[in-house]
Amino acid sequence: MVKPRSDDADPFKTEIVTIMSEIEKIMGERVHKQGTMSEGLADLFNFTKSVKGTSSYEQGVEKFISHSPECVTSNDSLLRLLRTGGEHLRKYNHALKMNKICRIQDALQFIKEFIEKEESTRSDGLNEDDKQLIRLFKDREEELQYVSGEKKFENPLLSKLEDVLIGEYATKVNAHAIIFCTKRITVDAMYSWIKENERLSFLKPEKIFGSSVRKKNSKFYMIASTEFNFEERDQANKIRHQFMTKSVRTLSKLPKDQLKEELLALQTIDLRERLMSEKRERERQQKRTEAPYKLLCGKCSEFSCFSTDVKVFNDSNHLIVDQEFYEKILTQKHPKPKVIGDDIHKNGKVSCKKCNHDWGVIVTISSMNFAVIKIVSFVLEKCADRKRTTVKKWKESPFKVEPLDINNFKQQNPDWSIELDYQQ
Ligand SMILES: [Zn+2]
Repeated sequence: MVKPRSDDADPFKTEIVTIMSEIEKIMGERVHKQGTMSEGLADLFNFTKSVKGTSSYEQGVEKFISHSPECVTSNDSLLRLLRTGGEHLRKYNHALKMNKICRIQDALQFIKEFIEKEESTRSDGLNEDDKQLIRLFKDREEELQYVSGEKKFENPLLSKLEDVLIGEYATKVNAHAIIFCTKRITVDAMYSWIKENERLSFLKPEKIFGSSVRKKNSKFYMIASTEFNFEERDQANKIRHQFMTKSVRTLSKLPKDQLKEELLALQTIDLRERLMSEKRERERQQKRTEAPYKLLCGKCSEFSCFSTDVKVFNDSNHLIVDQEFYEKILTQKHPKPKVIGDDIHKNGKVSCKKCNHDWGVIVTISSMNFAVIKIVSFVLEKCADRKRTTVKKWKESPFKVEPLDINNFKQQNPDWSIELDYQQ
């Protein structure tokens, strides 16, 4: 057993927890300043009682981000602070989780990338609250940078793991090892730790996610698993399945009968989960309404379009066919343009003109440009009763989306043209 660091030996944790408490305080004070806290919102705020750096805090803050629009319906700037602050808390919580198993520098890098992305928003897109949230990190960045380089604060788990690996390989030259990680980002961090560690770099680590692709000379595998939500668990089963069939036979030499049995059990679970998810999908489809919704910017609550302006192309691209929408966006060239289907390619990024919140991408289909939006970037407001909600994926959408027949559209809109802020 390896004892985790005491707080004295973990100044990274101490600093991050302080920043988080400050954010929670700013959010709470603002709510009280605007009036009394509703029961619903107070419930959502309960996550702040969870221990920071845990999964229960993560679940709570995610619930807070997605449900706060239901409670704050008539104060856009308050909602913006709560959702942006919530997003900062979510990232810091994740960094604390990373810090438990990875190097401080990996956890710090994770936060730095997030802050840089926030800052890259044009200065007139950031409001005072956004700037204040960023400043909380900036004020401590130097200190955090310093502790990330200090040997005395090194994660004892990693030192222990290093010793175990060196010890094992000293006696078993042809051994293979697997490290199971909770999230993809942790896999990346562990991977770079091994690569950059002089004593361990001989291991030649490889990362395994969905495919079991592996190189022959590698002694080391990493696989992302556990802590999946339901849909991802389905994916995890697929990984396990592939992993079992392709690798386990050689890795652990299970007796054939036992292997067969385990595979059968996995397949049964797989089938049961697939049937359940199909059933849920059918139920969701039936529940979808034709009543119109407004799509409001997920950050600044600016109106973008109505649900009836959204059409779905090829069952997957949700694009906007209302010209007025395009006056409310900023576009920029996509850093990784890509062909995503027959006669369809992604070439630009779309964001809110008012606050620069990421809304989606520009795609060209049959030489016509469209904005393809992510539903997670919007707050959905039902026109009839102004009830607000958020969802993460299009398949969870509360409203129906009509399919787009591209040829019909072309005939009916021969002059369709969208002005872009960049050269294609
Ligand atoms: Zn906006």
